[in-house]
Amino acid sequence: MNAQMHIPDIIIAIDGYSSTGKSSFAKLIARETGFLYLDSGALYRGVTLYAIENGLISDDNTIDVEKLAGTLPGLDLHFENGKDGCCTFMGDRCIEKEIRSLYVSGKVSPVSALAQVRSYVDRQLRELGSRKRVIIDGRDIGTTVFPDAELKIFMTADPEVRAMRRMKEMQAKGEDVDFKSVLNNVKERDYIDSHREVSPLAKAEDAVVLDNSDMTMEEQMVWFKDLISRKFGID
Ligand code: C5P
Repeated sequence: MNAQMHIPDIIIAIDGYSSTGKSSFAKLIARETGFLYLDSGALYRGVTLYAIENGLISDDNTIDVEKLAGTLPGLDLHFENGKDGCCTFMGDRCIEKEIRSLYVSGKVSPVSALAQVRSYVDRQLRELGSRKRVIIDGRDIGTTVFPDAELKIFMTADPEVRAMRRMKEMQAKGEDVDFKSVLNNVKERDYIDSHREVSPLAKAEDAVVLDNSDMTMEEQMVWFKDLISRKFGID
């Protein structure tokens, strides 16, 4: 691919199932286009970490909704280019590693099903996305957060393929995880995310589906470039 792809000032929404490689794909597109990448899942994971550390969620995932909702306005979760590639911060603390743990993954879907949590995250995303030239990945970006996004992609892949990728990723970071637990977590998050009342995971009507079960990242980028060319008439 050429140095940088020139595409109009648009919003690119990438939604889809857990561990379909949305963030790797979005980061690469951001690099190729100069767009700003926003990881909405990291904000939900950050709220979840905050709830865990402050005793607002129990072992069986019962949440003290009132207390959590009351503290959200003062919670400083943000993105910046920190040291060692750290992007997600709670105040001045890098939380990148903690938010990716299986422990946080096991609690993030019930936390992100709460309307108060969703409006906290949506507010931040809309503020950051108001100037366009952003690429955002999540579950409801094309349906709820930016329903007018000019380009919407919906990513999917076989659950086993997704769990294998996720397990390798976690093992590479030194986490001791087994395939079955990761697969269960992937399936459980799919279920909760698609069945919650507020902004369930769903394909926007005008989203283009990308099933990457058998695709490499290079093949996905070729697919993306082709999509952009057809949609915006760019070579
Ligand atoms: O994208 P990631 O897997 O990091 O997201 C973690 C969790 O955050 C998801 O399983 C989902 O429960 C929640 N999420 C959401 N809406 C988004 C992004 C993430 O509900 N837009």
